[in-house]
Amino acid sequence: MIQKTSGEMAVPAVEEILSDLIKIKTVNPPGGEIAAAQYLKRLFDRYHIPNEIIEPEPGRASFIANLGEGEKKLLYLSHTDVVPASEGWDFPPFSGEIRDGFVHGRGAIDCKGLAAVEACAVLHLAQTTELKGRLIFAAVADEEVGGYLGAGVLSTQYPDKIKADFAVNEGDEPWNINGRTYHSISVGEKGPAWMKLTAQGVSSHGSVPMLENNAVVKMAKVINGLAKYRPQIVLTPETKNLLQTVARIDGLYDEVNENNVDYILGKLRDRAIVPYLSAITRMTISPDVIHGGIKTNIVPDSCEAQVDIRILPGQSWEYVLNELQEILGDVKTEPLQYHMPSFSSADSQYYRLVEETLKEFVGEAPILQTICTGATDSRYLREMGVPSYGIGVLTLNTDKALGDSVHGKNEKIDVASLHIKTDFLIKLAKRYLGAE
Ligand SMILES: [Zn+2]
Repeated sequence: MIQKTSGEMAVPAVEEILSDLIKIKTVNPPGGEIAAAQYLKRLFDRYHIPNEIIEPEPGRASFIANLGEGEKKLLYLSHTDVVPASEGWDFPPFSGEIRDGFVHGRGAIDCKGLAAVEACAVLHLAQTTELKGRLIFAAVADEEVGGYLGAGVLSTQYPDKIKADFAVNEGDEPWNINGRTYHSISVGEKGPAWMKLTAQGVSSHGSVPMLENNAVVKMAKVINGLAKYRPQIVLTPETKNLLQTVARIDGLYDEVNENNVDYILGKLRDRAIVPYLSAITRMTISPDVIHGGIKTNIVPDSCEAQVDIRILPGQSWEYVLNELQEILGDVKTEPLQYHMPSFSSADSQYYRLVEETLKEFVGEAPILQTICTGATDSRYLREMGVPSYGIGVLTLNTDKALGDSVHGKNEKIDVASLHIKTDFLIKLAKRYLGAE
């Protein structure tokens, strides 16, 4: 390792970088991530780190920087857009207030907290270390509404700029199981297969009803069928591992298999984690919108419903139609949003390196291998063949309110966890890129 002793510049505190980023309003829509990209550009320019801004549409910009040169490549990904903030926060949501050991504001966790720690890690490395490979930093636009103008554009139009051996991206917040904190590495995501249903009927007078022609009655039968549907249990090696770990923490030593998943979920003392564990072991179906009929005395000739369906690795739109064929009958189906689930194996040298390094910072408790029920930009990377691992907040004392504040009120992150994560990312880059 080469210590740069001359011309070294102090790196701003990670909480200051985060506070600055929160003050830059990048609510998506409309986004306006260019302001965050320009802030990062000024910061990285000060440390002479090569960087660029990619702006596929006016104001919608991603920032990319590169440190070091060599064959090996590691990507640190984050996004700079945030979801809107409602009324009634304890602090103004875009104040970036640093108080009582926390940074407060929209994006503190999702995902400016990650952008700040990744930036801070790169600045530190630039000042102290000669990397033997390339560390790519990408803080991208548009993640909160699907990622098309951020990671989507980069992966399809500029793949070489973000192509790496593996990546670290946002992950799940730490779990508190029976009073103890457990951290996770997110290895995959379910895919949305959101479906619109339309039932057709024949309109007539409601005083002489013909229920077989009533579109609302037809749809009611379908919805009832969907609610009763029992999906097949699917265990990937990682979800099996997660369930086994959680069961053991709870003192259950049964060997987990497809047949006893629900039995084990029924036995877990910590009920709060059960809906999540249930959702990652099967396709889920939630009929969430229904519209039909126009007047009390008119038999409706049409009824529409929208169903939130999420599928697992190995499942597809065709799988969904096949499974639900009998329930759906002659009701018309069309996709509202659909993409394939994405997945990076935990049985890989990259996963093991991330896990080993992580344990040095959060202790020896088992690291949970989680599957995200929502979507992140990791899916674009995985489609390019880049394994992507999600790491959440590295707080050592779980404050339940922390995770609940993501996309909700009073989003905040503890400063201590920002420092731990910066150190973790510095260590991981040094290990992989041959500087130690
Ligand atoms: Zn996010």
